[in-house]
Amino acid sequence: MNAPARYAHLPEPVMPRCPAQKLLGGQKALVTGASSGIGRAIAMSLADAGADVVINYVSGEDKAQALAQELREKGTRAMAIRADVSDERQVSSMFSTMIAEFGTVDILVNNAGLQQDAPFHELTLAQWNRVLGVNLTGQFLCAREAVREFRRRGVNPEVSCSAGKILCISSVHEVIPWAGHVNYAASKGGVMLMMKSLAQEVAPYRIRVNSICPGAIRTPINMEAWDTPAAYQELMKLIPYKRIGEAEEIGRAATWLASDYADYVHGISLFVDGGMTLYPGFETGG
Ligand code: NAD
Repeated sequence: MNAPARYAHLPEPVMPRCPAQKLLGGQKALVTGASSGIGRAIAMSLADAGADVVINYVSGEDKAQALAQELREKGTRAMAIRADVSDERQVSSMFSTMIAEFGTVDILVNNAGLQQDAPFHELTLAQWNRVLGVNLTGQFLCAREAVREFRRRGVNPEVSCSAGKILCISSVHEVIPWAGHVNYAASKGGVMLMMKSLAQEVAPYRIRVNSICPGAIRTPINMEAWDTPAAYQELMKLIPYKRIGEAEEIGRAATWLASDYADYVHGISLFVDGGMTLYPGFETGG
């Protein structure tokens, strides 16, 4: 394929591979907050698809190490690295360690996140800063390190037709306002425009940037919304598809989005939410 002259500075396009065996064979992935919930499921799914995986954690070292061991037993290269994603120095050191051990980074999954909920008039600056610091600044710090590495290395067509992939784990609350969780919704709304602006900026380097926006997924972060029959029944009013999502379903979406099968998918928010963003209040005609 010959690029028109005005695109001459761009890397020559490489057509997506359809690998005969493993979708992510030979790729190195870093998943933040991967010792539990969605991050854990994404790490397992990427490993099943052939990627070597770094499991980032900030607490629960035993769970992170156990996951790394489980992945190694399946034949994957895996290691756990402790780092607080909101700390610039720790993030930089985590990427240096990964690059020293694995050679490079091909896939970053910005998954680490937390909630610190309060009615708005009681929300403290510390709660605001912590949630923004992890959910938004943490994604920025990790994405910046990844972009630096992707730009340094460029496209390696033996591995992937892009120079690297960033997946931001956002939320339906990047578009659905959420009373009592203003800091969380603000952080995810921020992730949406950080992701899209970054996607626009780095596309010429063949770096793909996208988000996955989970709806209600059965993990520790939202246990009070699903762990009693009454809470589950209440939750179903918000989900047209009438079931909670499982972390493995986010893992599968992440694996596809990180793979060359999704090479022309760039700058999107992929909602995996059983229809939660379909205004379920209007299910019966409003
Ligand atoms: P979880 O609590 O199991 O996972 C969050 C992980 O992030 C934990 O392992 C935690 O230790 C880690 N983490 C927190 N602060 C960190 C820091 N400073 N540095 C590194 N790691 C840190 O919950 P989850 O549901 O698996 O959440 C994962 C992501 O999915 C979050 O970004 C969350 O906002 C998003 N999400 C979850 C749901 C859901 O229904 N579960 C819905 C929408 C979005």
